[in-house]
Amino acid sequence: MEINIKKIRGLMTDFMLYAWVVISIVDFIFYLIFLYQDTLSYQPKTYFLVKVIVPFLINGALFCFASFINTSYGYSEDCKNWICAMGLTLIGTVIALFHSSYVVLWLSPCFGIVYSVVFQNKTIKRILYIITILTIAASAVTEYLLGSEISLKMLIESAVIAAVFSTLVFLVSNIIYDFFINAESMIEESGEKQKAYEDRLKQDVLTKVHSRYYIDNYLTKLFKDLSLHRPISLAMTDIDNFKHVNDTYGHENGDEVLKRIYDASQCLDPETCIVSRFGGEEFLFMFTDEDVTKHRLQIEEFRKAFEAQEYPFTDEHFTISAGLVTSYGSIPFDEVLAIADKALYASKKNGKNQTTIGRI
Ligand code: GH3
Ligand code: MG
Ligand code: MG
Repeated sequence: MEINIKKIRGLMTDFMLYAWVVISIVDFIFYLIFLYQDTLSYQPKTYFLVKVIVPFLINGALFCFASFINTSYGYSEDCKNWICAMGLTLIGTVIALFHSSYVVLWLSPCFGIVYSVVFQNKTIKRILYIITILTIAASAVTEYLLGSEISLKMLIESAVIAAVFSTLVFLVSNIIYDFFINAESMIEESGEKQKAYEDRLKQDVLTKVHSRYYIDNYLTKLFKDLSLHRPISLAMTDIDNFKHVNDTYGHENGDEVLKRIYDASQCLDPETCIVSRFGGEEFLFMFTDEDVTKHRLQIEEFRKAFEAQEYPFTDEHFTISAGLVTSYGSIPFDEVLAIADKALYASKKNGKNQTTIGRI
């Protein structure tokens, strides 16, 4: 199962940002119910103003403030989450103060706590918890001082229920917090493993140059790009008489010779040249230097560097043959490759240890 933490955070942020609308609608419905039942605690106009309009306006102002800050800070995730969590707590606080008799609304700040868990900030969560408890106490005191119809005993009971519930939310949020931390580190770990695996796929294990998998993907993508106007040269190379190396000096020493492709390629600029093992003792070179005349010089330089390699098991020097072709981007990759291959074949036919230029 793939857990997309960022997406969950985004959803929570959006949800919380609009929570005030939902709370206001619920608030208005309550007002209508009380109006219908004729159980409003004040004159309908006063009630509507104090308990519906004022919280709505304050919430709306908070929402606009949060949106403004978010936009100004380029939706920095941290800033957005802080603002939302604090904004929501304020919404809860304001509503709790205006509606102190609704236990459920006292608990609004709890959402702030739960929410803060999602973006994993323990400090915010603790602050929100303290604010929640203070809000509950303030609500109960306000209600008492305003001369509530609810008895003192019921007020204390409600406040205790709210405080216990908030504490439970606070404790459970720690569990959720740990879950998110674990999930995120697991995702990170599997991402690192995946990257390590992909890196391994990109490199040839024996010779340390790029793998066939890498160069195939790279070139197919590159050649598909129709906007490609810069010239690119491909050089297909093949070690000369390699069977003889294996037969005479053994497979292990053969491998040593293969490894020298990497050593010899150190004379090339990695910015403008990619070396890859195409298969067996065939290596594909890609040159991207803007000055096309350099491509030939580069493959020749490499050829000489390879020939100059010395080996502990023999005084013999080994050589390679190459077929070089320059493409200006209008031909598919495999066609360019086929021309490079043909040029390589010509080099072999003409006596090996040389480079032939293929023509498109
Ligand atoms: P030519 O000059 O025409 O290229 O002759 P060649 O002897 O090099 O002929 P060919 O290219 O067909 O030989 C390829 C040989 O490379 C055969 C195979 O055993 C050997 N080979 C392929 N991969 C490896 C490897 O990873 N290690 C070793 N030691 N040998 C390999
Ligand atoms: Mg070969
Ligand atoms: Mg060969």
